[in-house]
Amino acid sequence: MVKAEAVHKSFGPAHILKGIDLEVAPREVFCLIGPSGSGKSTFLRCINHLEKINSGRLWVDGELVGYRQKGDKLHELKDKEVAAKRRDIGMVFQRFNLFPHMTALENVIEAPVMVKGESKAVARERAVGLLDRVGLGDKAGSYPSQLSGGQQQRVAIARALAMEPKLMLFDEPTSALDPELVGDVLDVMRGLAEDGMTMIVVTHEMGFAREVGDALVFMDDGVVVETGHPRDVLTNPQHDRTKAFLSKVL
Ligand code: ADP
Ligand code: MG
Repeated sequence: MVKAEAVHKSFGPAHILKGIDLEVAPREVFCLIGPSGSGKSTFLRCINHLEKINSGRLWVDGELVGYRQKGDKLHELKDKEVAAKRRDIGMVFQRFNLFPHMTALENVIEAPVMVKGESKAVARERAVGLLDRVGLGDKAGSYPSQLSGGQQQRVAIARALAMEPKLMLFDEPTSALDPELVGDVLDVMRGLAEDGMTMIVVTHEMGFAREVGDALVFMDDGVVVETGHPRDVLTNPQHDRTKAFLSKVL
């Protein structure tokens, strides 16, 4: 579903991603951990067409990000084509970014209607089902300000799912939440994983990574330091940098 080969990304003179190689299989829950500033968010943004890589290759769902292949020639995607690709990728951020003047239901309906041109009735029916699925069937008419952080984040997940994405990217989805609200959000993510969604999850929730993750990557200073099954990496890290990081967060 995602493949990175020697992906480099710089912002001006700042070299942030220094040759990322990794592969995410369909239906896999792929967890990404690492210290602040190591390039995790930047990498997710590259996958989601929000940043352009400087060199290397990055594929999503078998296609090169940012390019269209015609014969053996590569053509850069136009903005419209990029927008079409981005519809297949759901992204959930640390901050929920809901539209404050819209109810939970309206937030979930917005993109399918405005971006995909879906009818309101169809979008509404799906949205009701999605709010139910994230445990908020009774909050459809609530505004974000009337919801807890954890509830808002679950609306944000429902909103991303409303576009029926092939891939979900989570960037520290529970980091801004009070501890007692984290579990409900992780439960929704666990359910998604059980339903077979391909997910890349940047998280500090090592319990989630261990129980739900199929693969775990430890990133530091723009490189992949260690990859493996979460249980192996978390209980028996091979590299000193991984050990040092885990000793601080576990
Ligand atoms: P992480 O998510 O692992 O904490 P980030 O990918 O957010 O790391 O950031 C990695 C580095 O890239 C940081 O030093 C950050 O300041 C820098 N960076 C991220 N986005 C930009 C940008 N748009 N312009 C300049 N520097 C950036
Ligand atoms: Mg980040």
